[in-house]
Amino acid sequence: MVQPLFLRPVFKERIWGGTALQTEFGYEIPNNQTGECWAISAHPNGPSIIENGPYAGMSLDLLWGKHPELFGNPKEEVFPLLTKILDANMDLSVQVHPEDSYAKVYENGDLGKTECWYILDCKEGADMIFGHNAKTKEEFVEQINDGKWNELLRRVKIKPGDFFYVPSGTIHALCEGTLVLETQQSSDTTYRVYDYDRRDAEGNLRELHLEKAIDVTTVPHQDAGVAPKVEERGNVTITTFVESEFFSVYKWDVNGQAAFSFDDRYLLLSVIKGEGTLVHNGETYTLTKGTHFIIPVGIRGFEVDGDCELIVSHP
Ligand code: ZN
Repeated sequence: MVQPLFLRPVFKERIWGGTALQTEFGYEIPNNQTGECWAISAHPNGPSIIENGPYAGMSLDLLWGKHPELFGNPKEEVFPLLTKILDANMDLSVQVHPEDSYAKVYENGDLGKTECWYILDCKEGADMIFGHNAKTKEEFVEQINDGKWNELLRRVKIKPGDFFYVPSGTIHALCEGTLVLETQQSSDTTYRVYDYDRRDAEGNLRELHLEKAIDVTTVPHQDAGVAPKVEERGNVTITTFVESEFFSVYKWDVNGQAAFSFDDRYLLLSVIKGEGTLVHNGETYTLTKGTHFIIPVGIRGFEVDGDCELIVSHP
């Protein structure tokens, strides 16, 4: 009998990271510069481990290869998505990601990276870098070369609950004091454009990847506006943030008891607030903030009882 697959995340130290993954989510973090929780990952740079059931101890990439039926016998060679929680305790470097065709040629077959962010928490009046103001590639290159970052980079205000769709080719950076749940293509390719001229403990600047960044950046910037759709279904409020060629992302607000049913599709789920239980086939599983799991193909329905919010996605 197919069971939900609960996952153990992988943590990544980052110079911009902090301790919010421990204080907000209760995770045991490796140190106080922990920037990323790879929550649902089959990427070779940090695959999550199945925690329960017959596949306990197996990594998600291995399970994908050995039991394709759990994922509907997909055409894709690799698990296509990656869910992360990011703790931007300091500004991230300004960056851009390539699309699939470029990454395939220049990054050893890695996928491109279209991503999206649900803002879990941020400081009052926080902003982030999203897009740029150059009209042409020449102007883009000129402003980079002249270091006219304030003119070039576009800043937008953010608040908790906001959602941003970040297609490959979009210049972006999270800024200090932001906690984000990211759903992205399973890729680890980033081109750094600007790092605020910061130096590490040894006095070195971080490497930039200007040539590739200039190659892949969309000019002029295209704003992929998000228009969330909200739908009430009994004790659940479902917000649809995006349905794109790479992924669809929703928020489920559960208040009380709710039944869910599915067709032949697997889902990635992350509890971002509150708690409850998941009941499937007579088994009860605890859901708390920071729980991540997959509902594989073959589970046709389950119940959630509690007061909680989940971010849910599928390819
Ligand atoms: Zn990014």
